[in-house]
Amino acid sequence: MSQIQTGLLVLLLTFLGVVGYNVYLSEVTPVERSYSEFIELVKENKIKAVHLKGGAVVATDLQEHSFSSYIPDLQTVLPLLKKQQITITAESDAESWGGFMKSMLPIMLILGGYLIFSRNQQGGKPDFGKGKGKSFHPKKKIDVSFDDVAGISEARLELVEVVDSLTNPEKFSTLGGYIPKGILLQGSPGTGKTLLAKAIAGEASVPFYSIGGSDFVEMFVGVGASRVRELFTEAKRNAPCIIFIDEIDAIGGKRSGGNASGSNDEREQTLNALLVEMDGFDSDETVIIIAATNRPDMLDPALLRPGRFDRQVTIALPDVKGRRKILEVHAKKIVMARGTDLSDIARSIPGFSGAEIANLVNEAALMAARKNKTAVDTLDFEEAKDKISLGLERKNVVINEKDRRVTAYHEAGHAITAKLLPDTDPVRKITIIPRGRALGLTQQVPLDDRYTYSREYLINRIKILLGGRVAEEIVFAHQTTGASNDIVSATDIASRLVCEFGMSDALGPVAYSQEQDGFLGGTTSSKPYSEKTAERIDHEISALIEQCYNETYELLTNNNKFLHKLAEALLVNETVDFEEFEIVHQCYINEIKIEENLRHKRREG
Ligand code: ADP
Ligand code: ZN
Repeated sequence: MSQIQTGLLVLLLTFLGVVGYNVYLSEVTPVERSYSEFIELVKENKIKAVHLKGGAVVATDLQEHSFSSYIPDLQTVLPLLKKQQITITAESDAESWGGFMKSMLPIMLILGGYLIFSRNQQGGKPDFGKGKGKSFHPKKKIDVSFDDVAGISEARLELVEVVDSLTNPEKFSTLGGYIPKGILLQGSPGTGKTLLAKAIAGEASVPFYSIGGSDFVEMFVGVGASRVRELFTEAKRNAPCIIFIDEIDAIGGKRSGGNASGSNDEREQTLNALLVEMDGFDSDETVIIIAATNRPDMLDPALLRPGRFDRQVTIALPDVKGRRKILEVHAKKIVMARGTDLSDIARSIPGFSGAEIANLVNEAALMAARKNKTAVDTLDFEEAKDKISLGLERKNVVINEKDRRVTAYHEAGHAITAKLLPDTDPVRKITIIPRGRALGLTQQVPLDDRYTYSREYLINRIKILLGGRVAEEIVFAHQTTGASNDIVSATDIASRLVCEFGMSDALGPVAYSQEQDGFLGGTTSSKPYSEKTAERIDHEISALIEQCYNETYELLTNNNKFLHKLAEALLVNETVDFEEFEIVHQCYINEIKIEENLRHKRREG
């Protein structure tokens, strides 16, 4: 099409737009109804939407019929409208302004048409996404380096090459190697994906364009796609550079095969635009696209095809060494007390992500500041950790003496079971200071990260969980609800032991999947086995729990002096730490009185 033809077409369309608009205007002359009628309909849930203009209202009912009315007191009606979830739109009641706008609209349309036309003349694409307020200014200089990202040595190895290809593209192309284009970083939230992408840009000293996948999915159809094009145009102009798309699953999720969640047109258009842009690179345009997701399974396979995000780098939660390194990185930013053992702290936070560790360091510094300390020490870390994982201590909550005693024996039951059984994680701390919703706590910390669990370990875990309830039973001969969480966890382990790990004697090494996670977090319980088997499974689980319960009962009865000693220490001191627990244990073994020893230790500390 020649440019003149394009121009004529635009003008014709503009003209049609003006005619259409006038037809629409003439249709909108709603009938009037009384205020009380309006309110009645609202209450009966028969109104879909209202348009407010000063005191006047144009209401649309479920049959798409409109009528107008007058609201004497808007302030009292608004809450009702909101409650009925009626769509509310409003405009200022300056009549003249509205009328002016209406009369201006055709002119504005023509003007708009002309603008588009003239842009086309200049060879530029019409760009409706512009003027959305956000353009893609890269941060001038990214001052993040690989050294800021700790504990991800494997991922780092793969990504050094990417930096190379950015800083030294000739080397890559002359060798005939191809420069990676799309890299997918996959890992749990807070594992440092964003940080790593920044570090790549920082190491290569190239601009960094960052956008969240959900930013693309805007209200207005077509905007997402045009923003993708905008972003790539801008990036190409500044190549070499990096585009970082966080949460790519927001646009790159599997395309709907007609699922029930309504129209995903907008998302699909955006995704298609992204694919088109990624496929349309020239080889001399070194733009590397790094995307992050924590749901790689949700991604549309089209994204993972060769030439697109064909490099996938998984970032796992840090292991104990990694956590130590991440601690080191962040501890540099605060004043640490001398002799603080970071390895020890790292060991005590299994499962923490990089972001959680950064948060922990920050909280520890706050704890120290609160106490006017000049440096952050281990105790601050302990408290910060407990605060993060359990909520703040509720020291001023008044717990009656009876509940305190029950809690002391309950926690002692957990701790002693853990101490006396082989192959268990060491007890780090026992406390009866209430926290969050818990009345007390026994904290065990594994010496190393565990990746596999033996049957014995799992059985002992069940016994430790039951130990609280068993201790109450032995000492008070009654049960409390305080143990309900323990019972849930114990049952969970028992059923996984039987169904998932195939570790029960009666049923053997067969996996009986009980529940499958549905795709969007829902669960579909499909039982691929007979009712009879289901009965056997249930029986096996409860038999297992019962056996564990009985054995724990026996264990704690045989060592009930230990139980009393520890409970007393808890009632006096509220918290018993690892060393103090050891002292209590020694006192029990050697049948000595405990008070002097503990007091002695306290004075030293
Ligand atoms: P993600 O993008 O995977 O959700 P982020 O990169 O946003 O995680 O991490 C958030 C913050 O957590 C980072 O800014 C950094 O302070 C900290 N962090 C995460 N991982 C690491 C790591 N491996 N080393 C150092 N700090 C980390
Ligand atoms: Zn408990």
